[in-house]
Amino acid sequence: MKLANRQLFGFDNTLVRDLHGLYQTWQPVSAPAPNLLVLNDSLAVELDLDPDALRSAEGVAALVGNAAPPGAANVALAYAGHQFGGYSPRLGDGRALLLGEIVDGRGHRFDVHLKGSGRTPFARGGDGKAAVGPMLREYVVGEALHALAIPTTRALAVIATGEEVLRERPLPGAVLARVAASHIRVGTFQYAAATGDSDLLRRLADHAIARHYPAVAGAEQPYLALLDAVVDAQAALIAKWMLVGFVHGVMNTDNMTISGESIDFGPCAFIDVHHPSAVFSSIDQFGRYAYGNQPRIGLWNLARLAGTLLPLVAADVDEAVEAVTEVLQRFTPRYEQHWLEGMRAKLGLRSAGPDDRALVDDLLARMTDAALDHTETFRALAKVLRGADPPPEALEPWVTSWRARLAAEGSHEAPAAAAMDRVNPLYIARNHLVEEALTAATDGDLAPLHDLVALLKHPFDAVPGHDRYALAAPGDAPPHVTYCGT
Ligand code: AMP
Ligand code: MG
Repeated sequence: MKLANRQLFGFDNTLVRDLHGLYQTWQPVSAPAPNLLVLNDSLAVELDLDPDALRSAEGVAALVGNAAPPGAANVALAYAGHQFGGYSPRLGDGRALLLGEIVDGRGHRFDVHLKGSGRTPFARGGDGKAAVGPMLREYVVGEALHALAIPTTRALAVIATGEEVLRERPLPGAVLARVAASHIRVGTFQYAAATGDSDLLRRLADHAIARHYPAVAGAEQPYLALLDAVVDAQAALIAKWMLVGFVHGVMNTDNMTISGESIDFGPCAFIDVHHPSAVFSSIDQFGRYAYGNQPRIGLWNLARLAGTLLPLVAADVDEAVEAVTEVLQRFTPRYEQHWLEGMRAKLGLRSAGPDDRALVDDLLARMTDAALDHTETFRALAKVLRGADPPPEALEPWVTSWRARLAAEGSHEAPAAAAMDRVNPLYIARNHLVEEALTAATDGDLAPLHDLVALLKHPFDAVPGHDRYALAAPGDAPPHVTYCGT
């Protein structure tokens, strides 16, 4: 058993060594009848883990929290956070534990973390558990984003516990074994800052720099450079979300990573009809986390991060505020640059032109007015270039300007269409398909989930016989609503 476990993970726990004061050691509760629902083979291989060992009884016991593999840290991380704008001084891993850190063959460090592993000292009113559906949703969405080259945490495994959890109705329980570059959040900095222990805050910032942005360690102002690096990572991340129509749904500061990875897929959804005010979450009544609001909220969250760093930036508060404000002001231009570059690629453009922003804005306004499907529209435009299909009526005049722009930069239409199809997904994790797969999985049939994930792993490549996966929900489907109930 020991030998098998040693083959599972070779943990090295820098966070536990560096950040005493930001976690509590804790034990997961035992799952009565663990059943491995999903093992992410390709992720395991990328991480130099042995999928067969993870599938073994010892492997499943480790992934569900029934047996601690050698070297496991088993800590619940402390963090605070602004949830829908309101500050909670103590959130933390209420139902999750960091098992430990692993380093892959390329020297990249990752957390292996269990979610749904029982109540911790941070659980407040919660039961510490998670249900099969939402944990499988993390798997589906993580794989979908990853295949779209969007930085994200990913599921290594989802294990049914054999226990029921009580939500609106009893549901099968599960543990998610999640892999992340780290679980350090904006909320982690908020918690550290609120302790008033400036040494702890500095250790956290130094740890985040060493782990995620080692190049800034040598900067003249490393903590300002850290903020700058996070600003850029989040500007790039949110631009990528916007380009594929992803709505995170709960961009609280505790759900925003310092690494720039997407995390915590509760009420998230991909938009179908393009609309800036698209909201899916049942609890987001005022559209704080609406599709089109995500860049603004990203900046708002980064301002909270900046606030925590003030004492590290300068002894004089005014000086510190001025310095971080200057860094925060870089967010919007950088976001727009990442986004516009991405939009050019979506439209097959190879060069930057002065009127591109206007061209793109015009397209999106027409898509909004005509209630066009975000994903389908970009694939349809490539077909227009191939002469395969006429443009959607609402886009006819726009298509004329776009083709003129392509011609002006000397782009031929066939290669432009091919380039578009390499960046515009055909298959996204459409809400009705995800729901269908999760419902079947909750009832014990995992086949639809595996079929869906297989397509999402190659989102640009058409698979014959799978047309319906590329289409929006039928027009008579009720509007999609997502729930935080996890
Ligand atoms: P989330 O909305 O998933 O980002 O979680 C926000 C906070 O609530 C975190 O501190 C979680 O650990 C905690 N939490 C969510 N669900 C539960 C649960 N079932 N039991 C204990 N804590 C929970
Ligand atoms: Mg969270």
